[in-house]
Amino acid sequence: MELKTLEEIDIQLAPTSKINEVDFDNLTFGTTFTDHMLVCDFADGEWKKPVIQPYAPMTIDPSAKVFHYGQAIFEGMKAYKDANDAVWLFRPDQNYERFNKSAVRMAMPEVPEEVFLGGLKRLLEIEKDWVKKGLGNSLYIRPFMIATGPGVIAAPAKFYRFMIILSPAKAYYSGEVKVLIAEHYSRAANGGIGAAKAAGNYAAQFYPTQLANEQGFQQVIWTDDATHTKLEEAGTMNVFIRINDTLYTAPTSERILDGVTRKSVIELAKRENIAVEERSVLVTELVEAAKNDSLKEIFGAGTAAVINPIAGFSYKGDYFELPKLADSIAVEIKTKLTNIQNKLAEDTFGWTV
Ligand code: PMP
Repeated sequence: MELKTLEEIDIQLAPTSKINEVDFDNLTFGTTFTDHMLVCDFADGEWKKPVIQPYAPMTIDPSAKVFHYGQAIFEGMKAYKDANDAVWLFRPDQNYERFNKSAVRMAMPEVPEEVFLGGLKRLLEIEKDWVKKGLGNSLYIRPFMIATGPGVIAAPAKFYRFMIILSPAKAYYSGEVKVLIAEHYSRAANGGIGAAKAAGNYAAQFYPTQLANEQGFQQVIWTDDATHTKLEEAGTMNVFIRINDTLYTAPTSERILDGVTRKSVIELAKRENIAVEERSVLVTELVEAAKNDSLKEIFGAGTAAVINPIAGFSYKGDYFELPKLADSIAVEIKTKLTNIQNKLAEDTFGWTV
């Protein structure tokens, strides 16, 4: 549902813009924010009128539940600008649905579509100059919700704040990514919150990832918590493994985030007649495939980097380097997907809005 009239959002424009102070050629991911943000409060059992206001720090009660019990969720999505200056979103309905699934799991109120999607579109109209043209340029969109209700009682809050902030981004070059396969730590467990984009899932990964960084690995590939034998996903990416000419990715579950890039890669691969199977790959299978050279590629799939090829992996102290391929499926799919996102290729799927 669209906002029926723009008057349904209270708009307080910033007196001046920071845009001329920003060096768009040298952006560090997620550190520069646009002039405005959207704020919508939930109180007395209902969502109040959304406000678009100048981006600024805000005041929150020190006893707010978000600080003590981590009632916080978020989304990550991107806007792109085409050659004719039109701004496009990629499958925003998927992020909206996932956001409300996360909300339910964290005992938070669901956000109405006219606030999340209607509010986002209005915010993007105001901030359209911050979306730069050209392949690799995008505006990263961070919708989030926190429990603002006060009281250090361990129970869901009665007050919440939904917000959207925007950050201009360049193509994400992470450099060479070597991964460590988790043997002890877990990201998620059955019955837990792994499938929600809950803030605590990320905080819980920081320490094991720090340990991996100290050993020279940029990321951890998580394994199932019960047996540590099945490959699951990485920090903020779903993982694809190519053995011979088939792509494998773990099925989504209570433990794995249902990634928008993941599902788009699967649909694109099917269209290109690339064999793709949603099934768990065992760590032993991966090691065996690396040893007999049938392991061709591993790549991560997520909004920030789109597709992130992995150079090698380590398991129980053994390091396995991946081959450098001339016919990489990761590269092929990344090109096809980013061309759709940037409106450089026809979007036969109807993903761009
Ligand atoms: N897994 C996790 C844990 C993530 O945080 C993300 C990023 N949202 C992904 C996978 C990839 O999801 P998407 O393609 O929707 O960005």
